[in-house]
Amino acid sequence: MVIIGGGLAGATAAETLRKEGYAGTITLVAQETEIPYQRPPLSKGFLAGKEGGDALLPLPASWYPDHNITLLTGTTATALDPQAHTVTLSNGTTVAYAKALIATGAEPRHISFPGVDLKGVHTFRTKADSLALKDLLTGGGKNVVMVGSGWIGMEIAATATELGNHVALLGLEDVPLSVAIGNELGTVFADRHQEAGVQFLLPASAAEIQGTHGHVSSVLTTTGVTLPADVVIVAVGVVPNTELAQAAGLTINNGVEVSAALQTSDPDVFAAGDVANSLHPFTGAHARSEHWANAIASGKVAAQSMLGQDAVLDDIPYFYTDQFDLGMEYSGFGALTKDAELVVRGSLEKRAFIAFWVLEGRVVAGMNVNVWDVQDAIKALIASRRIIDTRALADPQTPLEDI
Ligand SMILES: Cc1cc2nc3c(=O)[nH]c(=O)nc-3n(C[C@H](O)[C@H](O)[C@H](O)COP(=O)(O)OP(=O)(O)OC[C@H]3O[C@@H](n4cnc5c(N)ncnc54)[C@H](O)[C@@H]3O)c2cc1C
Repeated sequence: MVIIGGGLAGATAAETLRKEGYAGTITLVAQETEIPYQRPPLSKGFLAGKEGGDALLPLPASWYPDHNITLLTGTTATALDPQAHTVTLSNGTTVAYAKALIATGAEPRHISFPGVDLKGVHTFRTKADSLALKDLLTGGGKNVVMVGSGWIGMEIAATATELGNHVALLGLEDVPLSVAIGNELGTVFADRHQEAGVQFLLPASAAEIQGTHGHVSSVLTTTGVTLPADVVIVAVGVVPNTELAQAAGLTINNGVEVSAALQTSDPDVFAAGDVANSLHPFTGAHARSEHWANAIASGKVAAQSMLGQDAVLDDIPYFYTDQFDLGMEYSGFGALTKDAELVVRGSLEKRAFIAFWVLEGRVVAGMNVNVWDVQDAIKALIASRRIIDTRALADPQTPLEDI
């Protein structure tokens, strides 16, 4: 078995292969020099200095040799040949496979506005990115310009502010996060950020990043505002790493297209994690998830499929975020929320509520903010496809289990 990509999906697949009793060879090819780690703390506790490197590890370093995994860090898979069943590596060697997994993840989308190459301009994906930013932001007093009003941009803005820096945030939406959760709920997060001192300039982007002596000094926005900047962070989404799969002739469609069993257009090659666009049995549509829980669930299912088991990825998608004192969990199908009715149980003003998206009488997604232990009930409501009474849904006195 060859696993390409040493992120959470790849590591989970390796772990699952062993847990399921597979005793043959496993080669895990990992481009980064780090052993597999998970990314959520990078923009939160790890960046804030509240969590150390151990919090990043899904499996301890000793797990790989103990389980006879050939972990090749600092090594890139440069070609995959489905006919020959081989993977070529950057160290010049070739590894043969019976089944291969593509778990190459995603990388930050790059925008080429003038000045983007100046020192002090950062993208954010890796542990190295987080460490570099931590060095700059710890101690506070910096002017930070964040380009991007999505989850990662908002999380880093919160952490940078908590570290004592001033953050000005640019984004193409009128309200941050509105693409994902709409204006009303995005405003809850925006208000909390503003209270803490984050300055929003929306909608606007960077027209030019300006510098002196090769280092960023200010950002000119598309609305003509000049913002002082010691640090600029560009967090405008990610693109899946599909080059290897594409060169191998596999079907590419917003990532590597896979079945519900996570099989690609080649029967011996599978894909999992951020790079995989999988058919979801619940919606009958393909969707690519860029979230932590999906990396774990899909890594597991891909490994089971590689072993010939009858596995499908049918989990209801889930993710979470932490920003200041707002803790949020979301589960459901974002693509179905666009025309859905928003039903709120609890108080947006008090920032303690559950929001449901109801489409044609059925809950298709739910998000709890500073309300806990309700995810199982939300997922059960979604999975049931029951036509529900929205008044009961909005009523905190009615247990979710009774709806
Ligand atoms: C800062 C940050 C915060 C996040 N916070 C949250 C959160 O709060 N909640 C949430 O649900 N999700 C969060 N996510 C998303 C979550 O981390 C991702 O969904 C998850 O990392 C995906 O795992 P993956 O294994 O598919 O991909 P990745 O983690 O991207 O790992 C893929 C690995 O493959 C390597 N690779 C690529 N090409 C090759 C090649 N040819 N050969 C060898 N190796 C290769 C890459 O270098 C990389 O190390 C966050 C992401 C980031 C960046």
